[in-house]
Amino acid sequence: MKEYAEMSFWQSLRTVLLTAKVVFRLDWKNIPAFVGNRFFQTLQPFVALFFSARILDALASGAAWESVLKWVVIGVGSTYGVYLLERMTACISSVEGIALYWQLYQEMSRVMMKADYRELEGPAIRQDKERIERSSNMYWYGPWEVPGVLMSVVQGLAVIISALALAWPIFLPVKGEGFPWGMAAMAGLIVGSVVYSLVVEKRLYRMKEDGLDGLSKESRMQNFLIGYIGEQQAAKDVRLYAMQGMIRKYYERCNERILEIEGGRLMLQGRADGLRGAMAQGVGVFAYLIVGARALAGVFGVGSVVQYVGAITKLSDGIRELVYSVQHIKMQGPHCQEYLDFIGEGKEGDKYIHEQDGDRDVPTEGQDAVIEFDHVSFCYPGTEEMVLKDICLTIKKGVHLAIVGMNGSGKTTLIKLLCRLYRPTMGRILLNGTDIGEYSYEQYQQLFSVVFQDFQLMALPLGENVASGSSYEEERVWDCLEKAGAEEWARGLPKGLLQPLYRVGADGVNVSGGEAQKIAIARALYKDAPFVVLDEPTAALDPLAEAEIYSRFQELTLGKGAVYISHRLSSCRFCDTIAVFDEGRLAELGGHEELLARTGKYAELWEAQAQYYAGNSESRAAQVSAVPHAGI
Ligand code: ADP
Repeated sequence: MKEYAEMSFWQSLRTVLLTAKVVFRLDWKNIPAFVGNRFFQTLQPFVALFFSARILDALASGAAWESVLKWVVIGVGSTYGVYLLERMTACISSVEGIALYWQLYQEMSRVMMKADYRELEGPAIRQDKERIERSSNMYWYGPWEVPGVLMSVVQGLAVIISALALAWPIFLPVKGEGFPWGMAAMAGLIVGSVVYSLVVEKRLYRMKEDGLDGLSKESRMQNFLIGYIGEQQAAKDVRLYAMQGMIRKYYERCNERILEIEGGRLMLQGRADGLRGAMAQGVGVFAYLIVGARALAGVFGVGSVVQYVGAITKLSDGIRELVYSVQHIKMQGPHCQEYLDFIGEGKEGDKYIHEQDGDRDVPTEGQDAVIEFDHVSFCYPGTEEMVLKDICLTIKKGVHLAIVGMNGSGKTTLIKLLCRLYRPTMGRILLNGTDIGEYSYEQYQQLFSVVFQDFQLMALPLGENVASGSSYEEERVWDCLEKAGAEEWARGLPKGLLQPLYRVGADGVNVSGGEAQKIAIARALYKDAPFVVLDEPTAALDPLAEAEIYSRFQELTLGKGAVYISHRLSSCRFCDTIAVFDEGRLAELGGHEELLARTGKYAELWEAQAQYYAGNSESRAAQVSAVPHAGI
């Protein structure tokens, strides 16, 4: 926030107006009802004041009852008419306002989905998003408030003009009244209240900014705790490890800190509101004194007392509202700028998209595709260590490659680079001899069906999960489920392909880890891309299901390029080539027998697994019987 902190009023105004443009573009339908509502809100008290004065004047002057009745009918009718219009526009505006509220959030979600993947693995984008949401939730800052703030300026002006239109005669000098001390005192109170508001609001703003920065840790912790407690998976741990006390303690710590920071601000806010209220009452008292004295002296009629006193009180409110809204624009500016920057409407443009989209078309599917890692090294942004070192590797359509290695040896990172989720720090990745960066990003990613270890399904119907879309070919979805070994389970679901997964809604079903993995595999098959990548695809499957998947995958991926990452070396034996990774390096490359004969890293890993299973005869028996050709 520091970079935004010192914004001049004019910069803030410009930013707020730019934000208003975005708001208008996203949902202009809300604007007429919103403006209408503020207009009727402003008009309402003045209509009531004006007609009350006419009725009183008519009564005081002893006018005929028809004349009094005429004012009563017109007065009540107009006041009620304006009230109805105000309520109607308020209703429409609230409904439209909800749509706008979500539209503005949706813009942020759009950025989250479009941003470079590397941004999502880093902290910045999440922190920025969280801060925008926090500013809005805690202090009503940000684009959500822009229509209101801008309209408050107009409303303040309208109140001032209307109040002056009703009260102007009281500012005319009255003969024999001497020094208008009452008027001066009233003006002094109005000015004093405005100046006080300016000073105190500035202090409150600083305190809010400190709160936003100071409470970021607590706010994150609270969000985490709320999410964690709501997780079905965590519910077991919370109970079995009796974590309730620990969670409560963290909650309480967060609350204490929030109270510590917010308490001071809220006390000041309370004191300021009290003092401002007293000043407003003071203005009312002086208005009564001035107008009352003149009415008694016969300068005004009785009805005018109501009109003038009401109008002067409104004038004082209007001035305060106008000053407050102008000041609010200055406060909203930095927060609107954060939002604009986030959604890519700031000066820097798309802040979280660095990947250059190439203009070359990716070779059509029928053509043979060869992907080469040419001396690729890589370190994650913000880190020093190369997690991939000088990798030279070829992945071809029609060839099955297994990647094995210890945890942390760089296998998943290699896949991220292959899919262009990251760019190499050094070296190049080539598709048919051309750097992959030169190809259309979207087309390039269509080349891969990947099942990552940490895949996520959605709490949506099964069919949409498999097809990654709302419209799909049912036959093909069933076919993919069958190939992934999930058909029997899916046929048993009450709603078949329309069955929502997970118990988010009332009709959702629980999905076990193994079933989820099969659905993820079915999704990869449905995409039918020329390269299939499975990163530990069977970790949650039982040995029989795993054996079935592997035996089928051989034929399912026939003619495609396939990359398998697995801890179980026996699962990789059927691959044409095995790449052994060790601490970020490609230590060995070759077929199973060839690598065993070399007695290098692969043989070492193989031996270690064989010994493990030898020592655990039951597990070994399971593995041997489950995985074809395991032979350990
Ligand atoms: P493997 O798949 O072989 O288990 P990874 O490719 O996941 O290994 O990780 C290789 C190394 O990169 C590890 O040291 C890991 O801690 C590190 N690493 C993985 N992801 C990130 C990340 N987003 N930022 C920084 N380091 C990472």
